Amino acid sequence: MPHDLQVINARLPDRDGLWTVALRQGKIAAIAPKTGPVAIAADESGTQTLDAHKGLLIPGLVDGHIHLDKALLLDRHPAQAGTFAEAMAETLKLKQGFTVADIQSRARQVLETAIKFGITAMRSHVEVDPTAGLRAMAALLPLRQEYAWGLTLQLAVFAQEGITQQPETLPLLRQAMAMGGDVIGSAPYVDTDPEGNVRHIFDIAQEYDCDVDFHLDFLDDDEPLLLPFVVAETQRRGWQGRVCLGHMTKLAWLPPEKLADLAAALRENQISVLALPASDLYMMARQETHSQRRGVAPIHRLAEQGVNVGLATNNILNLFTPFGDGDVLKICTLLAQVLQLGTTASHQLCLAMATTQAARAIGIADHGLAVGNRADLVLLDVASVSAAVGAAPQGRTVIKAGQVVAQSRLDQQLFAPENAMV
Ligand SMILES: [Zn+2]
Repeated sequence: MPHDLQVINARLPDRDGLWTVALRQGKIAAIAPKTGPVAIAADESGTQTLDAHKGLLIPGLVDGHIHLDKALLLDRHPAQAGTFAEAMAETLKLKQGFTVADIQSRARQVLETAIKFGITAMRSHVEVDPTAGLRAMAALLPLRQEYAWGLTLQLAVFAQEGITQQPETLPLLRQAMAMGGDVIGSAPYVDTDPEGNVRHIFDIAQEYDCDVDFHLDFLDDDEPLLLPFVVAETQRRGWQGRVCLGHMTKLAWLPPEKLADLAAALRENQISVLALPASDLYMMARQETHSQRRGVAPIHRLAEQGVNVGLATNNILNLFTPFGDGDVLKICTLLAQVLQLGTTASHQLCLAMATTQAARAIGIADHGLAVGNRADLVLLDVASVSAAVGAAPQGRTVIKAGQVVAQSRLDQQLFAPENAMV
């Protein structure tokens, strides 16, 4: 039987002091200072209390870009060359052997770990093409419901292998949307006709009235940016506020004035950008023998100009990203390091990129510490946002729709010899 919950003695990311946060019927009902008026009314029978002990209560973490269907493949196929070409070719071969049970088994591991980390919403890309068929959709669709108690899962139907040079992909994409896909997307840079690819995706988005998610401007070749074309299509189709772009690593090579022009276009069309630093740092600028560039989209600069930006994990332990455990907070630390974000204000921005702004990027509006929003929260065993961004704490209590769904504690002991303390 679900019960209401109040979290007491909590620090909050954006205000000083200790607070009580009351959760009712899956939503945030009240946020009150500890010394202020009582947050919970007299009829609090059945309300359970969670003492935060001065820990930091943050909005639920959001992983707005992950690939559940190709996670955890590294044991099966370790990298030989470690290149993007190898990752594409070998993952395609592995994909031929994917079964529904195999995809579900790996996805369940990732989903359960994610819930323990405090990820309360996730958008997974789901590969649909002549090789994968609809197996990944068939595998992941039931998991959306199965794990709804801990995590809101969106499924983005995804053409990884191109569309125009493989037109039999198109009816499969439409079938996947009809099966229940939430979002449509592709990686136009692997298509022989990138603009045609983008047009096909917008066509499907209009047919199914769904949001669009592109892997865009990812490589570090000399090909021109596809972003202006996506912006133009967004305008032409009236899809403002419904487009999310992952990677965007080519933005890292642009001088400030060029970046500012593109930022204005992104802002005006309410297009969100998600940086994927674990993958991007690994794959970019391989051709450079020295003074190697970083290749992570400068999303802090975009944020300064009013663009909604976030960060996400992308891949976990496969040939595209042979690292990671799915913890968005660790990606937060990585992003802060690589974009040289050291101030308190920039750490606040990093946390927003991993929570409220990532939620907005995937079309979730009622996410964050405000009355009326969904009660998806994580209590961290740290005293400040900078501490959380600086080193992702292991101690976490995860609240989904007002219910505690996971708890992790770090159990460490020192066994110093008695004569050590002199
Ligand atoms: Zn991706």
